[in-house]
Amino acid sequence: MRIHQKLLILLPLVITTPMANLCSAQELAGASTGRFQQAADRTFKAFDREEEQTWQRPFFFMQMADTQYGFFSGNKGFEQEVDLVHRAVEHINRLRPRFVIVCGDLTNATPEHPRYREQVAQYHRDFSQVDAEIPLVCVCGNHDVGNRPTAQSIARYKENFGDDYFSFWVGGVCNIVLNSSVLKDLEGAPEVLAAQQTWLQQQLQEANAAKAKHILMFQHHPLFLAEEDEPDQYFNIPLQRRTPLLAQLKQADVRAVFAGHYHRNAYGTAGSMEMITTGPVGRPLGKDPSGFRIVTVLETGIEHRYWGMDDVPEKIELETTSDAR
Ligand SMILES: [Zn+2]
Repeated sequence: MRIHQKLLILLPLVITTPMANLCSAQELAGASTGRFQQAADRTFKAFDREEEQTWQRPFFFMQMADTQYGFFSGNKGFEQEVDLVHRAVEHINRLRPRFVIVCGDLTNATPEHPRYREQVAQYHRDFSQVDAEIPLVCVCGNHDVGNRPTAQSIARYKENFGDDYFSFWVGGVCNIVLNSSVLKDLEGAPEVLAAQQTWLQQQLQEANAAKAKHILMFQHHPLFLAEEDEPDQYFNIPLQRRTPLLAQLKQADVRAVFAGHYHRNAYGTAGSMEMITTGPVGRPLGKDPSGFRIVTVLETGIEHRYWGMDDVPEKIELETTSDAR
């Protein structure tokens, strides 16, 4: 007898309950010191490293990107982003994933911009509505640390969202989060990229030694959009740093890299590794609507699909059935 898992997706019921968005300063302060400071000491506190290194059962998580508060209006306001994030939060609280990860460009304003603080405050306010039992993992993008990140801009990000690179285990799967903005442009903080590289190598070795069921990576910039050796452009990582990094990830048998930044979906492979670029929660720049990705993690691999905000399934069920074949 063989056990196999099947993903059941029950379609679709759109729920549009209005959500309260008023929140006291005290609640906000609590939220920023708790929920948004989980990434610390290069790990994510909600997940116990020892306990989570063992495979338990299939699970799913939700991957989002580019909430980018302020992008629709050129930083004048953020009503449209608030509306979209509220809808995303309703989906999160209904579907109850193992965790949610937002792959960067949380706000449109960069740290030195006068509108930065209010956009961060709104992000904190809206994502504080995620059920406290569902960990929310935040990843930095180029808008969060600047196109040429510096020690100062990264420090500012960390005050609001915790570490810029870290790793955490969930049910036998090793998840590695990178600061891809220093991979994109290292001029402002070469020492951060060097430290991240040394750390990454250690993480990959440890994941292999601990026999991780899968290694998944998360960052803002796609390493590439479609082809691993495609020419350099705004949306990918320069070949000079992409090529050696891909070799390192293939060597460690990384299953998939998840990114955003492109504001639409794109897919490619490097050997057996998937490069998955996910459309925005916020403003789209192509035909893919605002939405997010649901990723199911099975013992044998992963399955994933992008859902527009209006098409999200009512429920995700991971069914385990026995099969006599
Ligand atoms: Zn970006």
